[in-house]
Amino acid sequence: MLQHPNYLSKIFFFLVLFLSVSFSSCQMKSDKPQKPDYVLVIHGGAGAMERSKMSTESEAAYKEGLMTALRAGEEVLKNGGSSTDAVIASITLMEDNPLFNAGKGAVYNEVGEIAHDASIMEGKQGRAGAVGAVSIIRHPILAAKAIMDDGRHVFLVGKGAEKFAIQSGVDTVNPSYFFTQNRWDNYEKTRQSHLEREFTIPSKGTVGAVALDREGNLAAGTSTGGMHYKREGRLGDSPVIGAGTWADNNSCAVSATGHGEFFIRNAVAHDLHARMIYSGQSLQQAANDLVMNKLKSLDAGGGLIAVDKNGSIALPFNTSGMFRAYVIAGQEASVSIYSDDESK
Ligand code: ASP
Repeated sequence: MLQHPNYLSKIFFFLVLFLSVSFSSCQMKSDKPQKPDYVLVIHGGAGAMERSKMSTESEAAYKEGLMTALRAGEEVLKNGGSSTDAVIASITLMEDNPLFNAGKGAVYNEVGEIAHDASIMEGKQGRAGAVGAVSIIRHPILAAKAIMDDGRHVFLVGKGAEKFAIQSGVDTVNPSYFFTQNRWDNYEKTRQSHLEREFTIPSKGTVGAVALDREGNLAAGTSTGGMHYKREGRLGDSPVIGAGTWADNNSCAVSATGHGEFFIRNAVAHDLHARMIYSGQSLQQAANDLVMNKLKSLDAGGGLIAVDKNGSIALPFNTSGMFRAYVIAGQEASVSIYSDDESK
């Protein structure tokens, strides 16, 4: 009889212990950021963007272009689609938008021609595809994807790339489709005045996207018309895997924009991955150091967008602006242009 209350108090003691342990472990879990279901980040190029020089209308048009592209990619991810398909959905829309220096709206090279570069990479198995110096493919990112899907090669340029794209069923157009008056006026201005200074100024408007899907797969893509008044035959970083584009499910997905020669020489996109894998740097640390210290010290203007395997994002740039937008599952989307805008 005397044992009975003792027995009850023991049960009570263990019950309290159990509840407090499970309560504190719940609290610990909620302190850690939860991996989001999906993440999508896009950019529309970095460069000199002065708030005072941009009209309210053109600011609104850029933001609308970015948001339309972001929503299209998000739709794919929300419905359980792959990070690759989300990247493609966002980039193809920006390639169709004449505001951006990719697809329609690309800049002219020094002989008055348009030459597109694009690349795509998947983080799951490291599949990749790229095209350079193509001028009849409506969506160069789709030609890059066709090369990746085919798998025999990674990088095709010029006529061979165009031939392969046609065989793969990728849409082609007459080069006049890519004409835009303001890009042509800029070309003429440079040609007539021979402003050497301008040759090295990156042309804002390159586009890119990085995504993490519900399966945990990362993908990255970049598409561009390259640099304003570039030499005929010049390839930038955008189609170079490891320079302008990189994805690895063990680290991150990256798409860069800026003065391509520096991004190639410094293997920027791959360096971000390598810093995370070999030095244990976080995505934020690695991305900020690369763009705000290393590239800046070389006087290399530009930026990048990146998402890591846990859904963290980084969007550093060392110019006065970078067209950018992102959405993290369950949170409101964000779109911004200038360096003093609210952003990651
Ligand atoms: N990175 C591109 C290139 O050098 C240009 C840009 O991003 O603005 O071709």
